[in-house]
Amino acid sequence: MKLKLQLLSAVLFTTALVACSPEATKTVEPVIEIESQEEGHDLQATNWSYTGDTGPESWGELDQTYASCVNGSEQSPINIEFSNVATKDMNATLGIQYEQTSFSVVNNGHTIQVDNSSETNKITLDGTDYRLVQFHFHTPSEHQFNGQQFPLELHLVHQNDKEELAVLGVMIQEGVENESLSSLWAGLPKEKTTDSSLMNENVNLQDLLPKEPALFYYEGSLTTPPCTEKVRWVLLEQPIEMSKKQIEAFQEIIPHNSRPVQPLNEREINKN
Ligand SMILES: [Zn+2]
Repeated sequence: MKLKLQLLSAVLFTTALVACSPEATKTVEPVIEIESQEEGHDLQATNWSYTGDTGPESWGELDQTYASCVNGSEQSPINIEFSNVATKDMNATLGIQYEQTSFSVVNNGHTIQVDNSSETNKITLDGTDYRLVQFHFHTPSEHQFNGQQFPLELHLVHQNDKEELAVLGVMIQEGVENESLSSLWAGLPKEKTTDSSLMNENVNLQDLLPKEPALFYYEGSLTTPPCTEKVRWVLLEQPIEMSKKQIEAFQEIIPHNSRPVQPLNEREINKN
């Protein structure tokens, strides 16, 4: 019985490992979590947030596995000063292959996350395929352009066969209603849910992306605990639009889920 409870706790804990984590609603190595509990780990201590004692400034102290949040040297998000972006020729090539597929949506308490189960949605970065795992939103935007934040930011989280991550980030500004997202927005889960629910309509994420191909590349991290590094970030320079009503509908459910910008340190930002 005790083991069952621990397993349940582990599953609940791992499903709470959200946002930029690729492991969505899958259970991530629950055995490890059981072990850490047996070592007297306080499950509450890993209950991170965006404000107060469990907010971003404290993430690194909440759990030993979150050490990168405070010790890391290549953390995300960052501010991108356009004047500091390297203009040298880039070898990086990005191919985006999204198709009309079904998704399931979950409110994990930190964001609204949309899980992908299709094999067809993927990007190719420098010749390597990264399959789309999930996408989710932050408000206000986590990345900044010349110190400017946007009302929302979309993160499309991908993983390759070596379980390396590549995240495509898209800024969202206020403008016309975004019809590509209207079906998702019509069913945004208002309360935290443990299970994801299948969306009524299929979505083609290709329709969502801006037309201009300008991209920023840099090496960073997950923007949520455990702040794991070696994440390849690709940010689209051109924002997409959503209506004020759509932006507010998200903010009514998730008022604030944005990590402050992190030091750039020795990193270079490149542009295609
Ligand atoms: Zn994110």
